Formats: sequence, structure tokens, C-alpha cells
Amino acid sequence: MAIMITGATGQLGNLIIANLLVKVPATEIIAGVRHWGMSSTLKALKDQGGEIRCMDYDNPETFQKALSDVNKLLLISSSHPDDTVRLTQHTSVIHAAKNAGVEQILYTSFAFPRKGLKGSSSVHRLTEQVIFDSRMKYTILRNGLYIDFVNVLGLHEAIQSGVLTTPSGDWQFNAVTRSDLARAIANVLAEKGHEQRIYELAAPQTWNFADLAEVLTEFAGKTVIHSENVSVQHWIYPFLSSIDTGSTSKDLEQLTGQPITSLKESIAPFLN
Ligand code: NDP
Repeated sequence: MAIMITGATGQLGNLIIANLLVKVPATEIIAGVRHWGMSSTLKALKDQGGEIRCMDYDNPETFQKALSDVNKLLLISSSHPDDTVRLTQHTSVIHAAKNAGVEQILYTSFAFPRKGLKGSSSVHRLTEQVIFDSRMKYTILRNGLYIDFVNVLGLHEAIQSGVLTTPSGDWQFNAVTRSDLARAIANVLAEKGHEQRIYELAAPQTWNFADLAEVLTEFAGKTVIHSENVSVQHWIYPFLSSIDTGSTSKDLEQLTGQPITSLKESIAPFLN
């Protein structure tokens, strides 16, 4: 069994490989990279007999060699800022995988796509469709919003002032950590099956800004309250409004076999 993970130099790819290394022999793991930037995880993979292959979504000449003898391919969605380019990249990788005889393709999509909405989720919906049309065996891993978005909410300022100020509205968040996602995805890669399945890898319950203020209170050791103010403006809020941050799913906990990381633990890295 040869399992290839593309985007292996990225944060999610690295974490998936680190999890996979304790589940399957390293000799079954292939890291697909655009640049030869060696993280400690990729070094460990190589030291234990795993392979690192050049796999550049923009360079189809790399595909044939990269995909040779691959049974399962995890296509990590491209980080290119232009969705049209991303779709082209994803499409060419999917077609190359089909031509190379890859048995099962897995794709990191985005949780709870909203029909008819333009924006970040549409490239994922369109990529999913390319996969369905390819008639390959597939597993769609619809990742929830990364918890990292809290980094732009002014957490340090809230702790200093004692007030977390946000625009008004019924904000609910199903955000998750990459670590939880990586654990779930590594399990899916290591196990047989999961074919023709779509997983919504979001939190099983949401939190809101009042919950966040409570957690900040615990960190600060002094009261942080939540306050709404219509004049608060930041690009993050229109973005958050454009995606479904309120739907929940048990898929992530079921695939990892454990509760997801708590809000307190999830936001700790952003308070250092
Ligand atoms: P990173 O930015 O850390 O990693 C992206 C990876 O994609 C890198 O390994 C990068 O390679 C690789 N990549 C980019 N372009 C190409 C290319 N042309 N060919 C091959 N590889 C390429 O992102 P994360 O690991 O944190 O997240 C993975 C993906 O999740 C992102 O790419 C994005 O599509 C999506 N995402 C999801 C979010 C969410 O909230 N669910 C939020 C943000 C992104 P290199 O190291 O060479 O640049």
C-alpha cells in the first residue's frame, strides 16, 4: 500500500504525516512536495524509509513520476490565492491520478458548503464534482474553519482592556484545530474503506463570543466581558458571514475516537 500526501511541506500535511508515521510503516508513505523544504517530520519520514517526491500542482510534468504506484492519494487543497488557479491545479492532479491508476483519492474540502454561494467554498464544491465525475473511489474530507481566525479578533487587546468587542449578530463557530483534523485524516488514510464517503470535519458543538470572553477571563485571571459594537470593522467578519460556521457534526470526533480540543486549549497558541 502506498499512500501519498500532497502539500506535505504545509502545516496540515506535516501533521498528517506525523500522525500517519505511528500508524503505518514509513515505507508506505510518500510525501508530495513542491519545494524541498525539510521539516523535522519529513526528515523523520525519510530516515524511517519513507519517500519524498516532487509534486507541483502547476507542473504536470512532475505528476507521472510522483504518482507512480500510488494506491491512495490525499490531495491537500492548494493555498494559491486565486480560486480559478486552484481549480485548474486540483483538476489536473485528479485527472493525472486517474490516468496513473490511483485507486482512491481523498480531498481536503471545506465543511458545510453553501449552495449558490460564491467565494471560498465554491472551489471546493467544484473540485468535489471533478472527483465525482472521474468515477474514482473517493473520500471527501470537508475540513471545518481553522481556529486560527481568532488571531485577528484582538485577543491581546481584549485581555488588556477587559472587553472583547465584536460586531453584533448571532455568531456561532464550529472551528477546529489542524491537529484534530490531522488525527482524523491520518486515521482515514491508515484504515481500509471510507470509500464514497463525505465527512464534515467540524466541531460537534459551536461556541460564541461570550464563550470566548469567558475563556479569555480564565487566561487573564481577570474579567473579560463581551461587548457588541456595530462600528467594529474587519475583513474577517464578511468572510465569516459568507461561510457556514454554525452547523455541527460528530464526524471529527468519531474519526479520531476522542473529544475535540477544547476552546481554551485551541486558542492558547494565539495568546503566547
Ligand atoms: P499551508 O499554507 O501551511 O500549506 C499549503 C501547502 O500547499 C504547502 O505545502 C504548499 O507548498 C502546498 N502548495 C501550494 N501550492 C502548491 C503547488 N502549486 N503544488 C504543490 N503544492 C502546493 O496550509 P495548511 O496546511 O494550513 O492548509 C492546507 C490547505 O487548507 C490550504 O492549502 C488551503 O487550501 C486550505 N485552508 C483551509 C482553511 C480552513 O479554515 N479550513 C484555512 C486556510 C487554508 P509550499 O510549501 O511549497 O508552499
